[in-house]
Amino acid sequence: MDLNRVTSLRAARARDDLRLAPGETVLAGGSWLFSEPQEISGLVDLTTMGWEPWTVHDRGLSVAATCTIAELMDVPAVWTASPLFRQCAEALLMSFKIWGTATVGGNLCLALPAGAMISLATALDAVVVIWRPDGTERRELVAELVLGVRHTTLQSGEVVRSLEIPIGSLRARTAFRRFSLAPLGRSSAIVIGRLDDDGRLTLTVTAATPRPYVFRFGSPPTDDELQNLFASVHGWYDDAHGAPDWRKAVTLELAYDVCEELRAS
Ligand SMILES: Cc1cc2nc3c(=O)[nH]c(=O)nc-3n(C[C@H](O)[C@H](O)[C@H](O)COP(=O)(O)OP(=O)(O)OC[C@H]3O[C@@H](n4cnc5c(N)ncnc54)[C@H](O)[C@@H]3O)c2cc1C
Repeated sequence: MDLNRVTSLRAARARDDLRLAPGETVLAGGSWLFSEPQEISGLVDLTTMGWEPWTVHDRGLSVAATCTIAELMDVPAVWTASPLFRQCAEALLMSFKIWGTATVGGNLCLALPAGAMISLATALDAVVVIWRPDGTERRELVAELVLGVRHTTLQSGEVVRSLEIPIGSLRARTAFRRFSLAPLGRSSAIVIGRLDDDGRLTLTVTAATPRPYVFRFGSPPTDDELQNLFASVHGWYDDAHGAPDWRKAVTLELAYDVCEELRAS
């Protein structure tokens, strides 16, 4: 849709260009920004920064905030956890247009419960690199960046530069389960398990809750342990894609499956 209050568009080419004037906001793929009315008067295009979409290095994988979902699918599938990238990307309810334009950073910053890049990043203990307006940067686990629906720790003027995925997580075994009310519907619940080389298991719940939940175990938990754990989770998400009690029940079933798969692997 037309953003008829927007009177300026700046193409960012250097970090200084990311200093936002009052009323300005950063534009990534624009798939959400142009999907509903906005109270903004100016846009600063991040995609003109020319960042490499992704880089493989000894410590893992760096993904630029401007990397599109489609570009993320070009990362070589060389790790045990590689299938998780496509599983999460396909959990995003989208057309080919969204696939080609929506960015990893935009998905994280929007902080929707069904944010599939939030699911991926949380499951892999990814760290987000944030550029502050004063020229410094800060780093934070994605699981801690997202505080609730459309609510993150990002302060005014902060820009997500990249996502850092550690090599240890990429080498881990993973299991993915997703449920939605309709076959092509928005995710109602996503559970991802990650079994590290040392036998520790990380279980993440997204889409069913307003923010990601991360549970860590010394070894895969029993069904009883999972049941007790989920009883302590409050605030299951409530929207057209599922009622809270239903989401809780479905998520528990998905968690049983994930743990069983990882126990057997
Ligand atoms: C048909 C359709 C289906 C969708 N399905 C889903 C879905 O299933 N799950 C889901 O989570 N979302 C969904 N969305 C919402 C949205 O399109 C995606 O979350 C997308 O990933 C947003 O990325 P973008 O690059 O287009 O962000 P933009 O629209 O450009 O920006 C989104 C927000 O993030 C901010 N932002 C972007 N990048 C940065 C950055 N690097 N640093 C700081 N702030 C930044 C922008 O200022 C803006 O507020 C859907 C949208 C549509 C139109």
